[in-house]
Amino acid sequence: MINNTFEEIGKALSAGHKILLFPHINADGDAVGSCIALCRALRQAGKECWILIEDRIPGNLQFLDDDYCTLDQDILGKPDISVCVDCSDMSRLHDRGKRFLTAGTTVCIDHHLTADRFCDLNYIDSNAAATGELIYKLLLACGVQLDKEIGEALFTAIVTDTGRFQYKNTSKQTHEIAAALYDTGIDAGYICTEIYESMRMEKLMIRNKALNTLSTVAGGKAVIAYVTQEMLSETGAFMDETDGVVEELRSIKGVEAAAFLKESQDGKIKVSFRSKQSLDVAEIAESFGGGGHIRAAGCTLACGLSDAYDQIKERLTACLGRV
Ligand code: 5GP
Ligand code: MN
Repeated sequence: MINNTFEEIGKALSAGHKILLFPHINADGDAVGSCIALCRALRQAGKECWILIEDRIPGNLQFLDDDYCTLDQDILGKPDISVCVDCSDMSRLHDRGKRFLTAGTTVCIDHHLTADRFCDLNYIDSNAAATGELIYKLLLACGVQLDKEIGEALFTAIVTDTGRFQYKNTSKQTHEIAAALYDTGIDAGYICTEIYESMRMEKLMIRNKALNTLSTVAGGKAVIAYVTQEMLSETGAFMDETDGVVEELRSIKGVEAAAFLKESQDGKIKVSFRSKQSLDVAEIAESFGGGGHIRAAGCTLACGLSDAYDQIKERLTACLGRV
């Protein structure tokens, strides 16, 4: 299906006044950074704009939030425009779906392979390493002058979704956009210190506990680990402080795929999949009702931890072969 143009999306945004932005649930650096950049630009254009979230922003991203994010679904009443950012389908809006649909116009800007195109206007480009790249292009197409805060937010989006420019989604264009962001006056070293070197001790503790649950599957070609609510209360950590564990699991030599299972407060199991070179984990996640990218995907299973663990183990074994 064909995308709308950035000009069409820009025109729709300029026609509205009350604009609500929606990052995906469990917002990450790309979702938060992209939303903050867009929110700031829209406020500078005189719009009433807020980012509607429903869980805490990860601690290492809070340096970006200068009163842009709210938990209050009624902050604007009925918005003229709802924009979902880095969010591939309605289910990832979680409890905000109803509010999203009250807008006169809905817009989706995303880079997920499995994106649904469920909005009035859509711009979905799975070649983009981060939704931040798409927001950058949208702002340029709209003639927005990028300031340092917008630069910081977009750099955060790109540096986090590319694993610090290491993952295979990183392209020449990714570097060109990042380079252009330097012209806004950003200090990339400062941003990376905030994101990667401002860890709470509790985060180290929960990572340690989670890594201790590691076991290998398919003769070492896959690894599975998990985190439970009990482990969180023992360490005093937040669930988002386990972000990064699944990438660490994948980084083991000889490992093609990693699965990390997180026991939610409601007892459901959120699964993160990562692969290194060949396995399509978006396909696996989709078969469990989720989605994502070829090398990074996720789903939620409505069953207990040990049941979920067995299902994931079985699937990875089947996909990677018994050795
Ligand atoms: P993570 O494992 O970091 O939560 O997510 C990895 C990738 O898969 C992200 O791009 C994320 O947006 C996507 N993803 C994670 N969980 C789900 C899910 O339940 N449904 C869909 N459609 N995508 C997901
Ligand atoms: Mn993203």
